[in-house]
Amino acid sequence: MQINVSQQLKASIGSIRNYEISGMVDIAGDGGSSLVQGEVRLMRTDRGILAKGILHTEVEVTCSRCLSLFSCPVTLNIEEEYFPTTDVVSGAWAPLPEEPGCFSIDEHHILDLAEAIRQYVLLVIPMKPLCREDCAGLCPHCGHNLNHGACDCPPQDADPRWSELRGLTLASEVSVNKRKGTE
Ligand SMILES: [Zn+2]
Ligand SMILES: [Zn+2]
Repeated sequence: MQINVSQQLKASIGSIRNYEISGMVDIAGDGGSSLVQGEVRLMRTDRGILAKGILHTEVEVTCSRCLSLFSCPVTLNIEEEYFPTTDVVSGAWAPLPEEPGCFSIDEHHILDLAEAIRQYVLLVIPMKPLCREDCAGLCPHCGHNLNHGACDCPPQDADPRWSELRGLTLASEVSVNKRKGTE
């Protein structure tokens, strides 16, 4: 995810370069890597380089219902300004603006998108991921993953205490309907 921007830093403000991105990034910071692909447009600003692009990748998340790991495709709408740490012409050290968490271009004029990608992924991961829309979840009694078929637990209807209650509910619904019918 590294782009050498030394030439673009010498270009005039407003100059634009487009890059096709395809590479591996350690998104979770655990030594693994995910394929990140997309397009990034870099624009020379008065202070540095504005990176704007749409990137696609997949992240491993845990289903909130059945607790299985699955790959969740995510789209990142990245827009970040990168500031040089070294003046590209003189080689002199250039102070970064006093903005918390701003992204920098290193002394070799490399703009690295990896950190921005990591931060944007955190923003788009769903709070309660589902492996599929109709995930059946786990059996509350034995913990069996019901996506793999039914377990051996007796069905809820077999509990006599519930069936009695259900009969009561049905009876009251019927009487309500009857009352409505007579109006
Ligand atoms: Zn699930
Ligand atoms: Zn069960």
